[in-house]
Amino acid sequence: MEDARTQKSEAPPRFAWVNRNNAAILFAVLLSFGIIIKIYVSIHTVEQKLPQYGFLSIRELHAQLGDLRRLKDMVLLSKTAPASIEGRSMLSEAADLAHIRFTRVDRSRITAELPGYSQLHQEIVGLIGQIDALLGENLPFDRQKLEAVESEIKITEAALNELYFRSGETNNAGLFEAQQSLARLNIEILAILVILSSLLIGVAVLFVQRQRVTRQLRHLAWHDTVTGLKNRAWLMDNGQKMVARARAEQELLGLFIVDLDHFKKVNDTFGHYVGDALLCEVATVMTAHVNDATAAAIRLGGDEFAFLKQAATQAELAQFSGTLCQSISGFRTVEGHQIRLGASVGCSICPDHSWKISELLKHADMALYSAKAGGRQAASVYSPQMKVHRDTQLQTEEDLRQAICNDDFFLVWQPQLAVATGQLTGAEALLRWNNQRTGELVQPMEFIPIAETSELILEIDKLVLRKACDQASQWMAHLPDSFTISVNISGRHLQDRNLPDFVEDLLETTGVPAGLLELELTEGIFIEDRESAHEVLSRIRRLGVRIALDDFGTGYSSLGSIADLEIDRVKIDQTFIANVCDSSRKRGVVHSILAMCDALGMETVAEGIETASQFDFLIENGCTYAQGFFLAEPLSEAVFSRYFSAQRTSSGTIGKEQTG
Ligand code: C2E
Ligand code: MG
Ligand code: MG
Repeated sequence: MEDARTQKSEAPPRFAWVNRNNAAILFAVLLSFGIIIKIYVSIHTVEQKLPQYGFLSIRELHAQLGDLRRLKDMVLLSKTAPASIEGRSMLSEAADLAHIRFTRVDRSRITAELPGYSQLHQEIVGLIGQIDALLGENLPFDRQKLEAVESEIKITEAALNELYFRSGETNNAGLFEAQQSLARLNIEILAILVILSSLLIGVAVLFVQRQRVTRQLRHLAWHDTVTGLKNRAWLMDNGQKMVARARAEQELLGLFIVDLDHFKKVNDTFGHYVGDALLCEVATVMTAHVNDATAAAIRLGGDEFAFLKQAATQAELAQFSGTLCQSISGFRTVEGHQIRLGASVGCSICPDHSWKISELLKHADMALYSAKAGGRQAASVYSPQMKVHRDTQLQTEEDLRQAICNDDFFLVWQPQLAVATGQLTGAEALLRWNNQRTGELVQPMEFIPIAETSELILEIDKLVLRKACDQASQWMAHLPDSFTISVNISGRHLQDRNLPDFVEDLLETTGVPAGLLELELTEGIFIEDRESAHEVLSRIRRLGVRIALDDFGTGYSSLGSIADLEIDRVKIDQTFIANVCDSSRKRGVVHSILAMCDALGMETVAEGIETASQFDFLIENGCTYAQGFFLAEPLSEAVFSRYFSAQRTSSGTIGKEQTG
């Protein structure tokens, strides 16, 4: 059912060309076509309605009627005085006139336009012939002939009158209809004009709207919707113009990439709404640095911003990267939350590092990476060595990926002893890597920090946990009571809320009791990501797994703050132990740490004990456990097995052991 619905919604529309735009165009074309046909038909109708007979013919007919009347009058006059010479000359004149009018002039048009006229015309010509014949005779005129002509003239006059009247009537009716059609045509033309002007206005409105939408689209295409800053597309389109401008003005152009530290945590803790508000705050700070067209603030995406700035010298740009970093970093109140914001900045310079924006971006990114690696909230300017360094790192990452697939790792075990009794109480699992490509044995300090910059560390830590638990399950039966196997876990893992489940599953499958396992975490992560770390750790502790705070003293946390932490043991960093015997200040610090942990009921492990005097100092000051080359170096699995077997059989004398 679900599938059918999905399929239906994904099926392409049957008539893809049927859309609103095409329909509007089709409508406009049909309308124009209809209007043209309508106008043509209307004009044709008016033409049809126009009188068939020409006005000239009617006027001519009217004149002819007058001449015929005159001829009739003359005949009448001649009849009253048939012997009068004046009468004869008047009749002769009238006959001449009629002769000219009816016979000499071409009648073809009237004949053509007025049907029935030709018959009349023949009759009139015959009449004139009769009068001519009368005039040819001597006076007095024959009275009878005159009367006959008069009556014929009267009949012809009546017929001509009738023709004149009918033609006038027909013409009038045609004219009236034509006038009405013309009035209708005028209305139609008016309506068409209204429609056309509405269409024109509509087109103009659409054009203006299109312009506005185009402007909006361009704005959207080139700006970030959350912050309103310019976006990556803008940078790629216009960055090169800024390069050209700087070149023309013989100045440098700095490209800065700004990355917010731990922004994801802000989103996770306070929600995306607060995260967006924080991004807007950053945008405001960055915009404040844009004084003119020689600078631009850009959001590249996520928590990454860019800034372009033209300057005269490299020093000016280097100084600005620091200014940018400082102006963004600091405490901010967003939506009622106090948030500590940190930023790292990487800078590349045109033309020193490249003329191309895409290259400058890559270099600035590399500088950013180096700024982050050197401790966050820092700024750095690109140098070619960074590329070499980065390439080496990328190679190591690739090698590590391969090593994880091939399982080129193994563990060594460094014993931990109880200071008071010298008894073996545990071992720390330390990772070693056989790099197959170089053939070298690689120490963790060379690859763990690199793995920590990517997701690789999560896989490596899980791999170590698996190896350590597998080993512990093999040793379990032979280990001394209350033994602890310590495994180092990267701080990044505490943002992974699946870790407790993973540990639980592992303990179940290997059968290792939770009390045997201890996870070592460095102090730094407690400061950075307190809340998430606490949640993950308390779930792990609830399983019965112990937690140790590794490298204590290097993370700048106040001594008092460890009281709040979910930890069982504190491992004092070897830098404090190294010269504890030479410096009274170091002695004071170690003494204080030991006293504080004692007061808080926490056990202590001193790391990096290399001399007997250091060990003696720890005995005197009540340290619980000890670990260091003086007692035993990290041992291979086989040597460590022998080591704890020997410890079990003897009473547990303290002495140096070498890696086997
Ligand atoms: P760490 O957890 O503080 O481990 C102790 C380091 O100190 C080990 O170095 C150990 O060999 C060294 N050490 C022990 N006794 C002495 C001593 O008397 N003098 C001196 N100078 N050094 C001593 P290693 O094995 O090179 O490990 C270095 C660091 O790498 C570890 O510091 C830990 O932070 C990390 N690491 C090691 N294995 C793992 C692992 O499996 N996972 C993770 N995430 N990190 C690991
Ligand atoms: Mg450790
Ligand atoms: Mg340590």
